[in-house]
Parts: sequence; structure tokens; C-alpha cells
Amino acid sequence: MTGLPSEVDVAVIGAGAAGIGAARRLRQEGTVSVVVLEARDRVGGRVHTIAPAGFALDRGAEWLHSADRNPLSPIAGSLGFSVHRRPPEWTTRLRRSGETIEAEAEWIALREAQSRARRQAAAEPADRSLASLLSPGGRWNPLLDATSTWGNGAELERVSVKDNVRYEDSGTNWRLGEGYGRLFKTLAEGLPVAREAAVSRVDHRGRAIRLETARGTVTAARVIVTVPTSIIAQEVMRFDPPLPDKLVAAAGLPLGVDDKLFISLEGAVPGCEHDIYLVGSTTSRETMSYQLRPLDRPAIYCFFGGRFAAALQREGEAVMFDFAAGELTRLLGSEIRKRMAPLASTAWQRDPWARGSYSYALPGHADDRAVLAAPVDDRLFFAGEACSPNFFSTAHGAWLSGIAAAEAALASLSRLPFPPLHPRANNRGNH
Ligand SMILES: Cc1cc2nc3c(=O)[nH]c(=O)nc-3n(C[C@H](O)[C@H](O)[C@H](O)COP(=O)(O)OP(=O)(O)OC[C@H]3O[C@@H](n4cnc5c(N)ncnc54)[C@H](O)[C@@H]3O)c2cc1C
Repeated sequence: MTGLPSEVDVAVIGAGAAGIGAARRLRQEGTVSVVVLEARDRVGGRVHTIAPAGFALDRGAEWLHSADRNPLSPIAGSLGFSVHRRPPEWTTRLRRSGETIEAEAEWIALREAQSRARRQAAAEPADRSLASLLSPGGRWNPLLDATSTWGNGAELERVSVKDNVRYEDSGTNWRLGEGYGRLFKTLAEGLPVAREAAVSRVDHRGRAIRLETARGTVTAARVIVTVPTSIIAQEVMRFDPPLPDKLVAAAGLPLGVDDKLFISLEGAVPGCEHDIYLVGSTTSRETMSYQLRPLDRPAIYCFFGGRFAAALQREGEAVMFDFAAGELTRLLGSEIRKRMAPLASTAWQRDPWARGSYSYALPGHADDRAVLAAPVDDRLFFAGEACSPNFFSTAHGAWLSGIAAAEAALASLSRLPFPPLHPRANNRGNH
């Protein structure tokens, strides 16, 4: 376990995608001493690969979204990861859920119309919720709402239009055979990460910032905060003096809820080619989306979000499995049931160091991302997916925000009238 240094030039709080990105950038400057303070006993945060059945399962981020623009795509390739480019069919799958070709075309056209309406509404002076754009009683409203719980982690009425349209998506999505979590584990190798060192207080009253951690106190000239908004808003980690703007911004950017249930599947699915998508129901808000035989593996990945996911988390894996098995047998026939068994599941809202899945902005709070990301006194810097202006809620958005915060911290150090606290030729000895 990395020892806890008593003083460093830059302390990074959190070893998720943002913290790893920040620490790698800082380490490129050989003269700056760095420590990454991580609450968990592992790195990666909301990117975490497990392999209970011998193949990689990503409990959190799985997809390289905007993969053709995502800086992690070439990095994964250069590190020897297998990058799978088979496109998902997220918008074209309703036929498999019992709908006609005509109904499926209507759904696709409606989604495009919604997307245009969102862009128009976002240009209005006042912000509003995505739900305000629905036709009352519309046939597809429940599915639009379910889709919002998958994309935003929250129902349409909770999501800001202005924030939603700022998200940039190139439409290209790739996967890593070995898992996104394993990529970040590889990227964290050699970094000075102090695990099980949860930070409870950031005391920035003096010239050196004092960080109280579960393993003792560290002082730093600069601090990069990458913890989820939930940890700031719920004051699991406090600032002294308090930072009311950050509290309000973090509360305006809550983490939605999205979870996964992984099911093992013996044999083929009659009538279905490998690696397909389907939604459990086109008429209910409470439904799951399914990846069947992803990357041709003997498995089904189930994805669900919003209030429905929060309720299922409380009930546990057996109830999640029963729900998924019920939807799948309705769609694929009862014969499939005896070939399925639960492999693993997630409960991100109950995870004490995440307390949710990814951030969305409440209506009226789209500009909170900039407030959250703004440095304080050129000494406290902020990163993490919620700080990303256009790639929020993603691993690459978090990664890029971490690099930007590291560059800002380095620039501020170079403006010091005195040298960094502890200049070193390099700080490789720290791990
Ligand atoms: C179910 C699910 C599916 C997803 N799917 C995708 C996807 O397909 N593609 C995609 O790009 N993104 C996806 N995401 C989102 C993506 O995982 C996150 O946006 C990204 O990983 C967030 O990185 P981060 O560094 O901002 O935060 P985190 O990963 O949360 O990192 C913050 C770190 O801080 C630590 N920490 C918290 N509190 C403290 C404290 N007090 N002291 C010290 N350390 C602390 C945490 O343990 C954590 O390691 C998904 C997320 C979930 C949950």
C-alpha cells in the first residue's frame, strides 16, 4: 500500500477516471510531487471490471462513447486492448419487443422530432424539463421516460433541456473486450495512489491546504477534487471555510441511478443473432434494456435506471433477476428461463463512495457545471464527469476534465513566487 506522504505539491482526491487522468498529467512534470487519495481499496471509481464467469463485465462504464473522438480509444488500442467496433442498435430495436416495422419507424421519427424540439427549447431564455416537451398522453411517453432513465439516470421531468442539448455525441460507440475498468486499472499503474484514504475535510484556511484523511493528514500546495457531486452535496467531504457555491452546484447536478444485472445464458437464443438489443416493454416506464450475448458471450446484460432502479436496488439481486427473467421469457419464450442464472449486479446508489451513477442537471441548473468546475483561489481545482461541459456523465469526459484541472494546477504552481513545496527530480519512489 502506498504510504501517505505528509506534504506534497499536488494532492488529487479520488482515483476514478478524472483522478487518474489528472495524476498522469501531473506525473509528466517530473518536478512536482503528487499523491492521489482514494477512499476505496481499488482504483477506477465508477469504472470497474469484474470477471465472475471468466470474461470481463463492466459494473460501471462499458462503452467508449463518441469513440471516434474519444481520446481513450487510441490509448486503449496502443495498450493492446481489443477494441470492438460493432455498433449498438439502441434506437432500432423495437421489432424484437413485439412492435411492427411501422411502429418502430414511428418511434425513430418521434425520437428525432424530440431531439429537434429539445434544441429549439434550449434556445429559449428560460430552462425547462425534458418532460415539458412531451405530448400529453402520447403513446410513446413511457418509453421516452424509460430511455431517459437509461441515458440520464432520471425521469424526463427531472432533467434540464439546456444541459441535455449540450452533451456531445458523435454516435459512435465501441467496447473493450478486456473491459473499460481494466483500461483504467492499467492507466493507474505506477501512480502514487494511497488507497483507503477517504478525505473528510479540506481545510484551505492557511497557505498549505490540510487534508484530513482516514489514514492521517496530508498538506498540499494545490488540490484537485474529483469526487462525485453526491459526496460534495451530502458533505461526506467538507470544505473549511465552506464553499456554498460548490454545494449549490453539486446539488443542482445530482447523480442519477443506473444499474446492471448480469445473467449467464446457456446456449443460443432461437431466432436471434448474437449481440442484439431489446427493450423489455414499449409501454411501461418500469422496464429494462437488454444486451443479448454481448460480444458473443454466454450472457445477457440488463440495464435499468431512475426510480425503478432505486427501488430494485433496495429489493436486491433476486428480485432484479425475477423481473428480468419475466420480461425475457415474455419476449423470447419460457424455454429460456431454465438456461439463465444471475451472475452479478450493481447498486450504485448504495455505494458509499459513488451514491449514484452519473450526473444530470435539474431544470434551471445547466450552468452549474461551470460553477462546479471553477477553481477557488487558484489553489483548489475541480474535475470529474460532472465538471465536463459537453461530455458529462462519461468516463472520457471525466478523464479530460482531470487533465484540464492538472494543467491549471501546474500553471498556478509555475506562477508561484516561491518553488513548489517539495521539488523532486521525479517522484516514482512513492508507490
Ligand atoms: C452503471 C453505469 C454505467 C455507465 N456506463 C458508461 C458508459 O458506458 N460509458 C461512459 O463513458 N461512462 C459510463 N458511465 C459513467 C462513468 O462511469 C462515469 O462518468 C465516470 O467513471 C466518472 O469518473 P469520475 O472520475 O468523475 O468519478 P468516479 O469514478 O466516481 O471517481 C471518483 C473517485 O473518488 C473516490 N472518492 C469519493 N469520495 C472520496 C473521498 N471523500 N475521499 C477520497 N476519495 C473519494 C471514489 O471512490 C472514486 O474512486 C457509467 C456509470 C455507471 C454507474
